[in-house]
Amino acid sequence: MPATGILSDTRFRRHDTGAGHPEARARLAVIDEALEASGLLQTCTRLEPRPATDAVIQFVHTHDYLTRLDAACRQGYPYIDVPESAICPESFEIARLAAGGVVEAARRIAGGELKRAFCAVRPPGHHAERDRSMGFCLLNNVAIAACVLRSEFKLDRLAVLDFDVHHCNGTQHTFDADPSVLVISLHGHPNYLYPGTGFEDEVGLGPGHGYTLNIPFRPGAGDDDYREAFTTRVIPAVGRFAPQMILVSAGFDAHADDPIGNLALSDDSFAWMTEVIVELAERHARGRVLSVLEGGYNGEVLARCVPEHVRRLL
Ligand SMILES: [Zn+2]
Repeated sequence: MPATGILSDTRFRRHDTGAGHPEARARLAVIDEALEASGLLQTCTRLEPRPATDAVIQFVHTHDYLTRLDAACRQGYPYIDVPESAICPESFEIARLAAGGVVEAARRIAGGELKRAFCAVRPPGHHAERDRSMGFCLLNNVAIAACVLRSEFKLDRLAVLDFDVHHCNGTQHTFDADPSVLVISLHGHPNYLYPGTGFEDEVGLGPGHGYTLNIPFRPGAGDDDYREAFTTRVIPAVGRFAPQMILVSAGFDAHADDPIGNLALSDDSFAWMTEVIVELAERHARGRVLSVLEGGYNGEVLARCVPEHVRRLL
């Protein structure tokens, strides 16, 4: 049976966001240590990231944005586009490496060598828009991988499931007119939480109408609310779409103990959601799941929930 892949690389810690920034290098140190201690790094097939090429990145982002990002990093700017998107001179190179690693994992799964994979990458990606950075995100790793799967493997039914507490504006906007990618996002309601998009009536545009599913939650929503949403909304939607692969934007900031999120999930919900996603993939997608780290800003939560997530992918 094809193995589960794991992508982790100490170079992702070289994207330095500065003192006090929640999307800190320490996040990955914590995750890598926890994966190592749990034995999962040793159990899984290790993936080596290679930088994503311009051609691959430009499936999603404009040439102009890449030029600006490259220049901003080389010139030592403290951030790009918005103050929260902090950069250092190496950030573009590291973002390229993260996107390239996710693309590599996607190719290995589509090629049949792996069944599932988890990519412990940073910077995260789901807020990154076609032509600009937002919310700590430089390159939209998951959107880029989805485009590669379509272009190179002719997959035309891909589901992106984003359970990060923040709405995946970048991913949604990449595919909102595109019926070949079903984007499902569970997140804090935009009236109360960044980035202020992801209302229930954002359902896709033109030919993509009906292929965007936003499920916003009021502040304080917890395990029962997510279970109900999965049962009544997510599972039927994925069943109807019958994707060939499920791409997961795995953020752990909907946890009750996250310092940025405003929801109240327990550890159990992340394990349970992963089990449901794996079941859906087994039923519809030959088991294929590509999970990519997005947010999650409490080190203790990450140290517990990420290994459990990976264990359930196995
Ligand atoms: Zn988030």
